[in-house]
Amino acid sequence: MRTPISEVKNSEGKELEFSGWVHARRDHGKIIFIDLRDRSGLVQVVFTPSIPEAKDLRLEYAIKITGLVKARPASMVSAEQPNGAFELEAKTLEILNASLATPISVDTDGMEIDEEVRMKYRYLDLRRERLKNNLLARNKVIKFVRDFLIDKNEFVEVETPILTKSTPEGARDYLVPSRIYPGKFYALPQSPQQYKQLLMVAGLEKYFQIARCFRDEDTRGDRQPEFTQLDLEMSFVEREDVIALNEALLIELIEKLYPEKKIQEKPFPRLTYKEATEKYGIDRPDLRTDKNDPNLLAFCWIIDFPFFEKVDAAHSEASVKEWTFTHNPFSAPKPEFMEDLLAEKNIGDILTTQYDVVLNGLEIGGGSIRNHKPEALKAVFKIMGFEDARIESNFGHMLQALSFGAPPHGGIAWGLDRLVSLLQNEPNIREVIAFPKTGDGRDPMMDSPSTVDEKQLKELGIKIEKK
Ligand code: ASP
Repeated sequence: MRTPISEVKNSEGKELEFSGWVHARRDHGKIIFIDLRDRSGLVQVVFTPSIPEAKDLRLEYAIKITGLVKARPASMVSAEQPNGAFELEAKTLEILNASLATPISVDTDGMEIDEEVRMKYRYLDLRRERLKNNLLARNKVIKFVRDFLIDKNEFVEVETPILTKSTPEGARDYLVPSRIYPGKFYALPQSPQQYKQLLMVAGLEKYFQIARCFRDEDTRGDRQPEFTQLDLEMSFVEREDVIALNEALLIELIEKLYPEKKIQEKPFPRLTYKEATEKYGIDRPDLRTDKNDPNLLAFCWIIDFPFFEKVDAAHSEASVKEWTFTHNPFSAPKPEFMEDLLAEKNIGDILTTQYDVVLNGLEIGGGSIRNHKPEALKAVFKIMGFEDARIESNFGHMLQALSFGAPPHGGIAWGLDRLVSLLQNEPNIREVIAFPKTGDGRDPMMDSPSTVDEKQLKELGIKIEKK
């Protein structure tokens, strides 16, 4: 039976079996030392000439040994290493698999290596301690969220479809051609927004999901074509309920999993959009009092955003501008603006129930109370200039669902990758995603996107236009 290396420090005098990789190797002639690595840690192993195959060991070989756990002489104790006071005296050695010389080193933090190469060999890149720790931390964060929501707050985790319908939600959709219905397409969800609202209509009351979202955007900053949200929705709530739950979750999560971090201000300060932009010139201000402290977390909520803004109309004459939503077409206005929304009046002054949560100058989440009455949702699309027929074909299902006693509801989604990258003090979200794409949307390891067989295209009725 295999013992994890983290158990070495509790196992002095025992002869146990360990498996892992050769992390470092020092050949002292008769005696060979290696550092053996598994997911749980590192330990030094000493091979005497009684095990001659030790000569064959190279870096990153996968091996199995039995070893006697011995205290190292006081002068050799390495205080920084969790197992620094111990070593293993090898009794047997089995080489489970040899390794080629790795094209990238895995015993550094990897920051010195070209990212394209790190991604091509991502399975090796992930062997390095920094990335392994990021994945383990991400796992802990997700588990904490699940326990908090399910066990303490009666939320239900529900999976929603990945193949869905293209609707104008803000970003460009990824499309999936249908083979059975030539000329028709599914879209990958930009978020589970509509499904989570439909779950509220269905009576689930409290939903969440660790949800994958897809947005076909041009490379802009630290973005990924697919990313993960903590997505949640609640029925019979007001803005304060959603804010209170999320603030409690963020505070508990950080105090439990990141005790070394300090939350600058609790409860989180709140700024209106107007205050934030007037005072800081931005709607996601960095409120840290000391920007050199990597463990200082300055959260704030931004509220009272304008619901609509004017943008150039894509398809009409120049100079004509159209209203569009600033955040989410499904949001409700603040109650005092409902009359104006329904009357399609004073559009530029309508404020939405939208709330964003900002951490150290980055938006880590946002949500709103929704329009739960069909006439209010319809008014949003009318203000955006949609004809009745288009509203019906794009959103008829939502309007219909809201007509069957839909409860008042609201929710939020956090950018989970971004939150974990901030908590792990990582410079970008790619460092906390197991298999990210490059900044320009490629996977150098699998070599995607890639061409497909002519036969596959034919089945889909697709012809590629040569540019
Ligand atoms: N669906 C929204 C988004 O992805 C979040 C929300 O309002 O719950 O931004």
